[in-house]
Amino acid sequence: MTPTQPALSRRWSGFEELHALQRERIGTALCQAAHSPFYRDRFRLRQGGTMPGSLADVPVTTKDDLRAAYPFGMLAVPRERVATYHESSGSSGRATSSFCTEDDWVDIGERFNRMPAGIGPADTLLVRIPYAMVLAGHIGHFGARAKGATVVPADSRSFATPYGRVVRLLHDLGTTLTWSNPTEPLIWAAAARAAGLDPRTDFPHLRALLVCGEPLSEARRERLAELWDAAVIEDYGATEVGPLASACRHGRRHFYADRVVPEVLDPATGEITPDGTGDLVITPLYREAMPLLRYNLEDTVRLSHEPCPCGSWLPVIRLAGRATQAFDVAGRQVSQLQLEELVFRLPAAYGVLFWRARAEARRLVAEVEVADAYAADACAELAAAVRARLGVDCAVAPVPPGTLMPDEVLSAPGDVLKSRSLFGPDEDWSRGLLYY
Ligand SMILES: [Zn+2]
Repeated sequence: MTPTQPALSRRWSGFEELHALQRERIGTALCQAAHSPFYRDRFRLRQGGTMPGSLADVPVTTKDDLRAAYPFGMLAVPRERVATYHESSGSSGRATSSFCTEDDWVDIGERFNRMPAGIGPADTLLVRIPYAMVLAGHIGHFGARAKGATVVPADSRSFATPYGRVVRLLHDLGTTLTWSNPTEPLIWAAAARAAGLDPRTDFPHLRALLVCGEPLSEARRERLAELWDAAVIEDYGATEVGPLASACRHGRRHFYADRVVPEVLDPATGEITPDGTGDLVITPLYREAMPLLRYNLEDTVRLSHEPCPCGSWLPVIRLAGRATQAFDVAGRQVSQLQLEELVFRLPAAYGVLFWRARAEARRLVAEVEVADAYAADACAELAAAVRARLGVDCAVAPVPPGTLMPDEVLSAPGDVLKSRSLFGPDEDWSRGLLYY
């Protein structure tokens, strides 16, 4: 495998040139895949089989294939070349392994920095995404470090960084950028207020919220931007391969097809095409440690090669989400994204940040956190909007602020205890070896 860095600086203009660039690289990606036990077995290389000459002859790799290959079946480099090891556990609970070399991190970090945030040495990026096992936290960390920015490794699944501490870090360090899922900045806003701060005016250095990992409606995106007076930039990626696409200033999400070949699988026919609607199937072109060929991410997308006023020659991807996120209510499919769009279209003055809903057979039941003064209007308007837009009945009840997001979570102190074995005569020794 040639080092990835030189090729990463290539430029192209036009989709033909992009496809030529993909074809140039695909041979290397196929060769690299032949080093992993999984693809060696798949193509029976030990029995005299040969690797396919082009991607068109390669069958789909599934999430089950990855699970079955745990722990080293997908590894295509000697162990001493592996820089980091990651795992993701899908809905089945079975782990899938993921490996990265140093060069893989160059590719992943560079893709992170394609988000139009203009990250540089003067920036301070707060990473508020898990570091444990999955790629996501490290992606922001590596990307920002590659640009010389200061990284604040705040994690999001750690006892060390409750929300009160996050607000302090955002405020006192003059944090300019954050990397998190889009629910986090909603919670920070509530935590900032609990600390006596106004998210819109007391964080003047914060210029962009970089978000990923959750479906985000346009209404919630706009509300976040308004709450923090900051840009909201969304990254689309996958835990197995890192960042895959981000939106340009014209709101079109461009897929990084110079690094990862996207294709679309029609689940009904099994046919794979370069454009169209279906399951997104990807082939990373620069992955060393864990090559994947036509890997099915099981995300339903629409992919199209269309010119964009921004001048990008990367295909546009539109996400339809995962089918499991919709529920049947009185014969209509209702998704969280659709409901979210309506919740965050309520007037900002109502102050609704947190809500939940349950899909019953014949109706939706929802609760929104809202102050008394706006409770009647908020509930009536949301129920009417759900009826009008989604065609189902929705019983909306107000709950007092602090119900769905408890005050103690917003203001808990950030101290983490260390393990101890010796205690004073009056101390509680029941949690001596635990960290909290
Ligand atoms: Zn564009």
